[in-house]
Amino acid sequence: MTTDAIIAPTAPSAKGNSAASRDIASYLHPYTNLAAHEKTGPHVISKGHGIYVTDDNGRDFIEGMAGLWCASLGFGERRLVEAATKQLETLPYYHTFASRSTNPAIDLAEKLLELVPVPMSKVFFANSGSEATDSAVKMVWYYHNAIGQPEKKKIISRKKGYHGVTVAAASMTGLQGNHKMFDLPIDRIIHTETPHYWREAQSGEEEEDFATRLAEQLEDLIQAEGPETVGAFIAEPIMGAGGVIVPPRTYFEKVQEVLDRYNILFIADEVICGFGRTGRMFATETFRLKPDMITVAKQLSSAYQPISALFINDKIYQAAKKASDEIGTFGHGFTYSGHPVAAAVALETLRIYEEDGIVEHVRNVMSPFQKRLKDLNKFEHIGETRGRGLIGAFELVADKCLKTPMQPVGAAGKAVVAKCMDYGVILRALGDSVAFCPPLIITEEQVHDMFDKVEAALVDWHESLG
Ligand code: PLP
Repeated sequence: MTTDAIIAPTAPSAKGNSAASRDIASYLHPYTNLAAHEKTGPHVISKGHGIYVTDDNGRDFIEGMAGLWCASLGFGERRLVEAATKQLETLPYYHTFASRSTNPAIDLAEKLLELVPVPMSKVFFANSGSEATDSAVKMVWYYHNAIGQPEKKKIISRKKGYHGVTVAAASMTGLQGNHKMFDLPIDRIIHTETPHYWREAQSGEEEEDFATRLAEQLEDLIQAEGPETVGAFIAEPIMGAGGVIVPPRTYFEKVQEVLDRYNILFIADEVICGFGRTGRMFATETFRLKPDMITVAKQLSSAYQPISALFINDKIYQAAKKASDEIGTFGHGFTYSGHPVAAAVALETLRIYEEDGIVEHVRNVMSPFQKRLKDLNKFEHIGETRGRGLIGAFELVADKCLKTPMQPVGAAGKAVVAKCMDYGVILRALGDSVAFCPPLIITEEQVHDMFDKVEAALVDWHESLG
């Protein structure tokens, strides 16, 4: 996958728009080809409602990616606006350093511990997914120092895994575009193979045999590095930014056996999967994971406020408690850890999930969603469709039988995403895979509308190939 894979789609509002020239003059865009941006300009989104966003030319789009896999309740949830306003009027900010606390932060930590499906002891708050996974790295190191195993510090993540962009998080991310030019990854972070059965399995290899082989490769890597130096393994239950890769059957149970054998901590990065995306509140349930730490963000607040969280189990907490007592402090935290407005919005989001039965709703709409996704296999240049719950992707190939990649890599993905926008649907190209991750509130009718539009765009694109 190249950096191009995550470039913004074509920008219909770039020309003749004063916001466009002011944007080009002043704004350094994340995940954007900076030179290309000077020519295309921005695509300015000015408002939203339900699953739709509207650009500054008045065009409506189905947001088939919920923004960046995050706006679970869509773009017009009044209850979240009211929760933020009420908290801003009561206490707009306070910190949680040095034993200070706020009621929204306490309520949210307590609620999260009630929801999490495996035993967890405490919740730490940050602002972004990257800060949560970076904090997990620091916990791995802190914990092993605290228990007198200072050499057990290496962290294994996976090629194509995505864990964010801060220095340690970007190092765990297994995508070249996040390493090139940034002098990453840092040492002590290593990558194992991607569990993508369709792309990586050997000829004739069954899915479960592929899972066994990957677990063996992980074990070989641990042996080669020295088990006494490996502290943790981090994985997204379903890989998102790496192309929406669903793990092969039995993969996680086999990986967990290996981790247990060498006393290696398991961090489940649920930044995308957490809060209903896979048809359960946590993907930890969907894939029967037994993590020591879990990271969440995005759908925690339906993205209406920046907030993330790191769950730690009691083994880690007890060790950290003892060490912090010896040092005099647990020297980690952000000015905005547990920000009361973000916490109040997250709490209200969780209430809406429960009161509106969002997870049950996902379970109802995920069948038509997955069926329509699978139907896309009928297109000549779609090699694989894959997904779970309300997340999925299709992968474009030059030759369906041979699985030959399109050339140049990434161009077809971008072209298809641009076509989908012409038909009113925003999707995301991840190389030549095209991802779907709509707001969880999408109705069955809207699922069909979205896929009807995507199919029309695909017919159009196939015809353009001649
Ligand atoms: N972890 C996963 C699984 C993600 O998908 C992301 C972002 O997409 C992150 C971590 C980083 O989150 P953020 O962009 O909020 O720093």
